[in-house]
Amino acid sequence: MNALVATNRNFKLASRLLGLDSKLEKSLLIPFREIKVECTIPKDDGTLASYVGFRVQHDNARGPMKGGIRYHPEVDPDEVNALAQLMTWKTAVANIPYGGAKGGIGCNPSELSLSELERLTRVFTQKIHDLIGTHTDVPAPDMGTGPQTMAWILDEYSKFHGYSPAVVTGKPIDLGGSLGRDAATGRGVLYATEAVLNEYGKSVSGQRFVIQGFGNVGSWAAKLISEKGGKVIAVSDVTGAIKNTNGLDIPSLLNHSKEHKGVKGFRGGDSIDPKSILVEDCDVLVPAALGGVINRENANEIKAKFIIEAANHPTDPEADEILKKKGVVILPDIYANSGGVTVSYFEWVQNIQGFMWDEEKVNNELQKYMTRGFKDVKEMCQTHECDLRMGAFTLAVNRVARATVLRGWEA
Ligand code: GLU
Repeated sequence: MNALVATNRNFKLASRLLGLDSKLEKSLLIPFREIKVECTIPKDDGTLASYVGFRVQHDNARGPMKGGIRYHPEVDPDEVNALAQLMTWKTAVANIPYGGAKGGIGCNPSELSLSELERLTRVFTQKIHDLIGTHTDVPAPDMGTGPQTMAWILDEYSKFHGYSPAVVTGKPIDLGGSLGRDAATGRGVLYATEAVLNEYGKSVSGQRFVIQGFGNVGSWAAKLISEKGGKVIAVSDVTGAIKNTNGLDIPSLLNHSKEHKGVKGFRGGDSIDPKSILVEDCDVLVPAALGGVINRENANEIKAKFIIEAANHPTDPEADEILKKKGVVILPDIYANSGGVTVSYFEWVQNIQGFMWDEEKVNNELQKYMTRGFKDVKEMCQTHECDLRMGAFTLAVNRVARATVLRGWEA
């Protein structure tokens, strides 16, 4: 199912549960602003290449809009719109003072050299610089981007507006990045997993995990889960998939993946078909890559009892229905992967205060936010007699709706 159709559907279900006025519902759904820009750069060989860049600013009722910038061949307007809307709900679930936005460029970053990526990032920043800012819209990394990308955006933005470290988060530490930000989404996934497992009288230790995706989020989640005694029995990325029912040696796999740019060829397990990773026998499935991977084609085959959505919108609404009938507990993306944007908020606060927290403080604060988030979601589940996804959506939509009504519509 199209990502935007799926996201709108979840929003509308929550809005009905809350009994929102249909006019307010419409105003919450339509994005604040959609930006589409052409980015042409000279390639290293002197030829020209053109790319399309997007920034969708979905909502700012609760504060500056916030969300990552993705470099991926599948970036398209509907996907960016869906992801921007999800950021509005995610920042509201986390109860951090932001709205939601998302950006992206349709490109394959692995086919671009470092200097081509720098030129592309600078051109994109030139096109959107007067629409982003510390108190308007604050980008961050997402798939295919990272601290270096943020450093280029910061530098390019600062040429127009003066030095502004808080215009982006997820920066390198040397430029005002926060300790703990790199690991934050994966660490948040660990805290979220602990919260939901505790609810069912279980703990991370002893559970068998399958992790789909071994980028920033999947690899940190694997490392932290295995350090807590969780048995990571299968992992996949774009290069392949590896399985070891006795538990993969995650530190060795991390070294292998760094050295060989992927998990393929790792000797500490058997290579399996990456397509079967989601239906492997396990207790906890952690999708940590692209959206829409759990759908009506494979939902019936899923064996996990818990799904922790480390990726954004990995589960189609049709799959949600099938999995609900099977009794699978799904911890939704807008809560489960909110650790990244939560530590982005800590980074922004530190930049504005001109102060730096130690890593222990960052991680402790993150744990507090994740624990409180789960409690708030559970309360909504009880109030509306709904599953965790609708608990998270009703929590978020209610917070954003309240802020919108309080601010009013007077022109
Ligand atoms: N791209 C991340 C997300 O999807 C982080 C966003 C941010 O830190 O602003 O949540």
